[in-house]
Amino acid sequence: MAIVVQKYGGTSVGSLEKIRNAAERVIQSHEKGNQVVVVLSAMAGQTDDLIRMAHEITPEPEPRELDVLMSTGEQVSVALFAMTVQSMGYEAHSLLGFQVGILTDRLYGKARIHEVNPTRLLNGLDKGRILVVAGFQGTDESGNITTLGRGGSDTTAVAIAAALGADVCEIFTDVDGVYTTDPNICPKAKKLEFISYDEMLEMSSMGAKVLEIRSVEFAKKFNVPIHVRSTFNKERGTMVVAETKDMEKVVVSGVAYNKNEARVTITKVPDRPGVAGQIFEPVFRAGIIVDMIVQNTSDEGRTDLTFTVPKTDFLKTMKLVSDVAQKIGAEKVLGDEDIAKVSIVGVGMRSHAGVAQKMFKALANETINIMMISTSEIKVSVVIEEKYTELAVRVLHEVFGLEDGEQGES
Ligand code: ASP
Ligand code: MG
Repeated sequence: MAIVVQKYGGTSVGSLEKIRNAAERVIQSHEKGNQVVVVLSAMAGQTDDLIRMAHEITPEPEPRELDVLMSTGEQVSVALFAMTVQSMGYEAHSLLGFQVGILTDRLYGKARIHEVNPTRLLNGLDKGRILVVAGFQGTDESGNITTLGRGGSDTTAVAIAAALGADVCEIFTDVDGVYTTDPNICPKAKKLEFISYDEMLEMSSMGAKVLEIRSVEFAKKFNVPIHVRSTFNKERGTMVVAETKDMEKVVVSGVAYNKNEARVTITKVPDRPGVAGQIFEPVFRAGIIVDMIVQNTSDEGRTDLTFTVPKTDFLKTMKLVSDVAQKIGAEKVLGDEDIAKVSIVGVGMRSHAGVAQKMFKALANETINIMMISTSEIKVSVVIEEKYTELAVRVLHEVFGLEDGEQGES
């Protein structure tokens, strides 16, 4: 018997009618002989509403209490879902994070899963039940309720799939798969049949919102196949899986973009050992994720250092960095929020030369200025002015032959 984990996002359980629709799909899978564990998000908009309420009380709610509050959204959806399944004549149990032993660290609001204890789930499945687990939540060692960060239900689903050794983790959502780029920008974007974990990681870190990034990291680590598909039709979606030989034939699999970062530059930083460490220490300590870092060659013992951080952490970073800049005797700190990062992604880049050059040329043809560049084995990213994002995405999508009807460049 196969074990299948099915995760439904907020829009897929956004009303009682949608819950019924999803419950029917769960039952169909159960009827086929699968053992099904369902993982749910809160009903659409619920988590936002809860956060809004908390912020009406205070601009900075205690993180511990905020997690207690935010985790309630999923408690509502799993209970309603289990009742719906029962009303259709099947056995179901709803379960909260602590009941299935989802153990996390204590980083409220962005806790990491350390362990999932599969015992209770396996027992329930053996009794023939459909199990409905609250996504996004866990508890720390002392039993405090934690949440995993926005969109964290995907991670719950994959972690549970890993713990159970499930055959597949199906992520049901309001789009029908992973596309070569955002179809809202590029109507000719096409759905990918397969994508490797590494490519998906690059795409999600760039803001392709289909899967939460940590869920992909988890899936890669434990080799859990993910099937991203639509709740609202029966089509196959996109399989996110380990890399295969065939994937290398396509140079670029997708174009991603991210408007959620801001740029920070510190000018005339004294160029001596330990300075970078001093600058980033408070930033890292605050849990701020630094993405690109560029340091210029030094001129007369001084150098400029530029990096990007999430926009939500921009003001905090500016403050932290301004303090150190003064301490170490740098000149000044500049910030720019109107930037975007655009990337081309593909495992085929490893075996093909000249990909970056082709990208730069395509952007130059549109007179788009490149402010920063970073590369990895399977990605080239550039930072550009935010207002050119859509143009850059469209041009790159076309230049690399990703448009619907084309094969993709070999
Ligand atoms: N309900 C949570 C959120 O809105 C978790 C999730 O949807 O995955 O972020
Ligand atoms: Mg979601």
